[in-house]
Amino acid sequence: RDIAELREEVHRARHESLVDALTGLANRRAFDQRLAACIAGSMAGADGAGRPCLVVTDIDHFKRINDKYGHGFGDQVLKAVAQVLRSFTPASGVAARIGGEEFALLLPDMAVDAAQAIAEQVRTTIGSSRVRRGPDELIEHVTVSLGVVPCRKRESPREFLDRADAALYASKQAGRDRVTVVRD
Ligand code: GH3
Ligand code: MG
Ligand code: MG
Repeated sequence: RDIAELREEVHRARHESLVDALTGLANRRAFDQRLAACIAGSMAGADGAGRPCLVVTDIDHFKRINDKYGHGFGDQVLKAVAQVLRSFTPASGVAARIGGEEFALLLPDMAVDAAQAIAEQVRTTIGSSRVRRGPDELIEHVTVSLGVVPCRKRESPREFLDRADAALYASKQAGRDRVTVVRD
């Protein structure tokens, strides 16, 4: 019985070290591991084949949502955004919460056009949804900005993520609620 309990405890500790408690998505640590493994794997493949794309997503004016409706409601919004991301993640992909209100979708072996299509679906689905505050109380739209990049040859995880962040930043600068793709 002690062994069974210990095994259960190890299992739970491992789960908690890799999963974001609020959203149930992969956490930053798990994402970094998966990203490193994915890039290493794609380097071993044939020329250009199997390279991943990265989609980063940041909630627009999230501070306003927290200020206006409270942190608890902000958390509901985070869960709702995570649920949309999860619903568009292919079996081979990883959806992660990599910062407070920033998410990433790692899409192994995917062409940039396909990644862009997923990003657009995420954006329009979130933009056309309403997060419920009470039984019949609705709020204004929640929107997200996204950045999409394909992995370059011999690119490090850090560089790959930095370029995705730069694409996301361009979406913010251009007015938010949009997808920016940087093709190479
Ligand atoms: P932008 O459109 O430029 O991204 O503006 P923003 O307000 O979304 O960005 P900013 O970085 O100013 O604010 C992010 C906010 O996210 C601030 C912080 O309090 C909130 N936040 C971070 N983590 C959590 C969380 O776990 N729960 C809640 N409710 N809020 C969080
Ligand atoms: Mg934000
Ligand atoms: Mg942010």
